[in-house]
Amino acid sequence: MNITNERMCIPTLNTEDVLQAIKAVVRIDEEWIPTAENTSLYIRPFIIATDPFLGVRPSNSYLFMIILSPVGAYYKEGINPVSIWVEEEYVRAVRGGVGYAKTGGNYAASLKAQMAAKAMGYTQVLWLDGMERKYIEEVGTMNVFFKINGEVITPSLEGSILPGVTRNSTIALLKDWGYTVVERKISIDELYEAYDAGQLEEVFGTGTAAVISPVGSLNYRGNCITVNNNKIGDLSQKLYDTTTGIQTGRLEDKYGWIVKVD
Ligand SMILES: *Cc1c(COP(=O)(O)O)cnc(C)c1O
Repeated sequence: MNITNERMCIPTLNTEDVLQAIKAVVRIDEEWIPTAENTSLYIRPFIIATDPFLGVRPSNSYLFMIILSPVGAYYKEGINPVSIWVEEEYVRAVRGGVGYAKTGGNYAASLKAQMAAKAMGYTQVLWLDGMERKYIEEVGTMNVFFKINGEVITPSLEGSILPGVTRNSTIALLKDWGYTVVERKISIDELYEAYDAGQLEEVFGTGTAAVISPVGSLNYRGNCITVNNNKIGDLSQKLYDTTTGIQTGRLEDKYGWIVKVD
């Protein structure tokens, strides 16, 4: 949030204060924490400008809020891979813009392509870079990972991609398990070449809500490919199980990711 605030000319917040505020509101709504398997209490802190003013300048007053909502299991019938439309006409963000900020305008910019993809029967859009429409950025509102010939590749953070928390945790887990994880530019052509060579093993998105979302198929310029027989891959499953295991306390948190609300 502070990275975003800095970009949007919003004052940054004291992280310790925010943590205390989250704990306080979670304590108040304690009884809303769902207990069924794979459910959770979604916590969304956000900040809006509140100056009563017409014109373009940073606001002098802000409202910081935390809203909570119990959420059901993201995957009701097991984890089903999603189908992806590789978007060539619209772009989500460009370098130098606000793509790395978690700000409403980025979602506004993404809706048109998302709706078109949905109408064609695709679940999500894979964004390409805004300049050459060649390099892979992210998928929908998730960061994206590719397992190619045993190695895991994810697009490097060049300013137009959201630096997701789940992306970070995923990289940490993979490195811990001995995988080679490479953050670099990867073009859509390289991905299709890996597929043609029989080396594209797994594709998955990462984000807070879905945790790990396997990609089962992609369509780029009418060229459809199927990943791992449209099934969740072993690595995607292991990442999902481990991440949710740490979140729920089923597995030990050796990374210091968990905060106890006491
Ligand atoms: C929120 C979001 C993500 C995922 O970030 P997490 O911190 O892992 O939830 C990725 N891409 C976009 C565009 C997002 O808005």
